[in-house]
Amino acid sequence: MSAKLIKGAEVAAEIRDELKKEVEELKAKHNITPGLVTILVGEDPGSVSYVTAKQKTAHELGFHSVQDNQSPEITEEALLKLLDKYNKDPKIHGILVQLPLPKHIDSNKVLYGINPDKDVDAFHPVNVGRILIGNYAFLPCTPAGCQELIVRGYGDPKGKEVVVVGRSNIVGKPMVAIMIQKKAGANATVTCVHTGTPKEKMIEHCKRADILIVAAGVPKYVQADWVKPGACVIDVGVNRIGKSEKTGKAILAGDVDFETVKEVASAITPVPGGVGPMTITMLMKNTVMAAKLAAGLIKI
Ligand code: NAP
Repeated sequence: MSAKLIKGAEVAAEIRDELKKEVEELKAKHNITPGLVTILVGEDPGSVSYVTAKQKTAHELGFHSVQDNQSPEITEEALLKLLDKYNKDPKIHGILVQLPLPKHIDSNKVLYGINPDKDVDAFHPVNVGRILIGNYAFLPCTPAGCQELIVRGYGDPKGKEVVVVGRSNIVGKPMVAIMIQKKAGANATVTCVHTGTPKEKMIEHCKRADILIVAAGVPKYVQADWVKPGACVIDVGVNRIGKSEKTGKAILAGDVDFETVKEVASAITPVPGGVGPMTITMLMKNTVMAAKLAAGLIKI
């Protein structure tokens, strides 16, 4: 059996089409234009390309979008002041500070300086708490993207056994919190395994999973004999395992041994082209939600 490929770019394009219509409706009916500022400190090439892609998508969706470039010498105090300016700006609904920040700045202090209602990355402790309680406006982009891929590419996780490999604050833990929600697109039975789980136990848990979500950061870690036949496998991992001699570009591998696992699973995300393309789209979705929140169209 060869699994169906869940293609992130296609699902992301589907969601962006829905968002575009929602933005047009917000403008026409409520005179609201979602506003997103992306703050870039310094000129790290990776960060520059991430914020450029975010701004391009925001522009395509008809957002009010602002790119704010700051010198790498900016002080923590000045950055917090800048955040305060955007916290108070009624045209800006979403604030994104591109990480990593220079070493002299405490990233947590900066991220916690964002008004939680504009925190479209959903990293602020208030938003983490809101998600645990189940009363939230937005979810962290990567696990929220995984949820969309499961729902649209496999089916409703309600009542299914979900196993999450990894417990990081940005992927594993919020993934667990999302899948256990008593809400549409969730309501699953969830197990989380990590380095504290003995390997043979971990394999046992993985083998039970109807939906296996892997975010360990270990290339080709999950093997075919850990996977239940017919399972849905979501591979979050992005690992550079070499460099192409032809193109000079990095060769990427996920956390799943794709070639063998795809023969056992019924649906699987490729790397690249699976979870990766979803992240920016979910940021846009969060910005639309933040605009609706600011206008009182939704409540938390
Ligand atoms: P992380 O912060 O390094 O966390 C990895 C987690 O996996 C930790 O909880 C760790 O356990 C666990 N783990 C590590 N080795 C393990 C093993 N051998 N067995 C079981 N559990 C193990 O990584 P992350 O930020 O969550 O990212 C995970 C992967 O996803 C990385 O490859 C990253 O590049 C990728 N990623 C992709 C996207 C995307 O948009 N596609 C976004 C974010 C991350 P402990 O807690 O015990 O250390």
